[in-house]
Amino acid sequence: MAYLPFPRMLQLETTPRCNATCVICPNDQIQGREEMSMEMIEKVIHDCEGRGLNELHPFFTNEPLMDTRLFQVFDLAQEYLPETGVHLYSNMSLMTERNAYKMLEYSNFKFIAFSLDGATKDVFEKMRPGLAWDKVRSNCDRFLELRSELGRKDVHVKAVLTLTPENEADSQPFINMWADRVDEIMVMGCDGRNALGDYAAGEREGKAGWYAQDPRWPCRQHRCHQHSMYVLSNSNVVLCCKDIMGHTIVGNLERESVEEVWTGDTMNRLRLKLDNGIYDEEACRRCPLMGP
Ligand code: SF4
Ligand code: SF4
Repeated sequence: MAYLPFPRMLQLETTPRCNATCVICPNDQIQGREEMSMEMIEKVIHDCEGRGLNELHPFFTNEPLMDTRLFQVFDLAQEYLPETGVHLYSNMSLMTERNAYKMLEYSNFKFIAFSLDGATKDVFEKMRPGLAWDKVRSNCDRFLELRSELGRKDVHVKAVLTLTPENEADSQPFINMWADRVDEIMVMGCDGRNALGDYAAGEREGKAGWYAQDPRWPCRQHRCHQHSMYVLSNSNVVLCCKDIMGHTIVGNLERESVEEVWTGDTMNRLRLKLDNGIYDEEACRRCPLMGP
């Protein structure tokens, strides 16, 4: 099969840092990765110039606003990738009025997901330790007001609840809360990524097993390996958005360009495997979506 000559979406972990320790997330297990240098970020953006990249996601398993250089990344994207939409997933705790206003001034800012995981203070703060419900709610509300005031309805807003047994009771209230206020509501099963350690030990029980049969597989349904590239802050390119710890390295952008990695032998070999349903790479053997 012929693959795209260049990715349509590039996910770039400029920093691995987050200010929360969410129940669903292994962010606090990430070790040995530091912020990507600004020079490296610029290099990656220049690699994508004029190549028709549809989406740039300047985050991975972290909070994008934890990177104090986020607006420099927006500046670079606006200047060198004017045809590319910048997309964010945010926990909204740091989306102050000033940050929201500034972000909404970038014409290529096109998408934001409010990652919330609860519809009540009690559930939210259990699901998202480190974050305060009242603050996050008011930041979301002010963001939506500013979006209207600034005429930026082209910025698609999605409210996300990642489902676990701890917050199932909040799912309908969550839908009611955001109906008619945002463009999209997503209530999705947790992929079990918070229990990667259990999977590494060969255990298929506990939290990671709850949604092990979830049908939203990046490789089986969205076919992400055919159109999306994932770059860790150490410049390693990984196979898949589920490979948070970097177990299967496709290439490294310090030594290669985005195009070289994307069209290289390693990526083509791995893509072919996934297209043929072969999941024997280290990332896949540790995949949080793999069922028992
Ligand atoms: S889910 Fe998002 S906000 Fe929560 S710890 Fe992970 S990266 Fe941070
Ligand atoms: S099986 Fe492999 S490619 Fe598929 S979602 Fe899991 S880690 Fe990604």
